[in-house]
Amino acid sequence: MIELSGITKAFGTNTVLSDISLKLQEGSVTALIGPSGGGKSTLLRCINLLEMPSSGTLKIGEAQVTFSEGRRLTRPQIQLIRQQTGMVFQNFQLFPHRTALENVMEGLVTVLNWPAEKARSRAMALLEKVGMAHKADAWPATLSGGQQQRIAIARALAPSPRVLLCDEPTSALDPELAAEVVDVLAQLAREGTTMVMATHDLRLASQIAETVIVLDGGQVVETGPARALFDAPTQERTARFIATLK
Ligand code: ADP
Ligand code: MG
Repeated sequence: MIELSGITKAFGTNTVLSDISLKLQEGSVTALIGPSGGGKSTLLRCINLLEMPSSGTLKIGEAQVTFSEGRRLTRPQIQLIRQQTGMVFQNFQLFPHRTALENVMEGLVTVLNWPAEKARSRAMALLEKVGMAHKADAWPATLSGGQQQRIAIARALAPSPRVLLCDEPTSALDPELAAEVVDVLAQLAREGTTMVMATHDLRLASQIAETVIVLDGGQVVETGPARALFDAPTQERTARFIATLK
């Protein structure tokens, strides 16, 4: 359902992703792990076009785009890919001057032009799903990090994306707040949400992901079923990295 072929990304002369090819099945959960600077965030950002890949092809559902230097995508091409992805960031990035409910409604109203009432009821249903309906009218600053992240997840899911991209969704949180976010993500995984998440959290990765991809130096070092990869990595670089997390 999602296919990357030969995705490369350079910032100037610095190539940070080299020839990444992967396929993600509908309903699958994939964890991206690897050392800091390995390219995890850039890869996620290339999937929703927050960064433009330098070359390669990206296919999400029926949308397919091929990148090359000096070739600019049209706005509709970009929109088509973006609408199929939802992104959750390490530091939540809620709109500070909007309530929890308004944060979740925002994209539906401004990007998809939904009538406010329809957007409100979809947003309330999503707040319900992440256990935050009781805080619908709260300002982000009055909420814990775990609560803010749960609202950010609801916001990312609002337009019914085909894939939820999470960039270190628990890294900014204390363990007990991280646990409530893991619970929400685990629930979504059980319901069949397709997800790709960059994480340093082995608990998150082994609890939720079926497949793990190890990125180091902008290359896929190893990929495999989560359990097998954590218990018996085949690559020395993977083993060394996993040892640092335990
Ligand atoms: P990770 O998320 O695995 O820690 P990143 O994708 O953030 O890795 O970074 C990979 C490499 O790309 C790093 O060397 C980083 O400095 C570089 N990089 C990321 N974003 C930019 C940018 N906007 N401009 C220049 N270099 C960048
Ligand atoms: Mg990162």
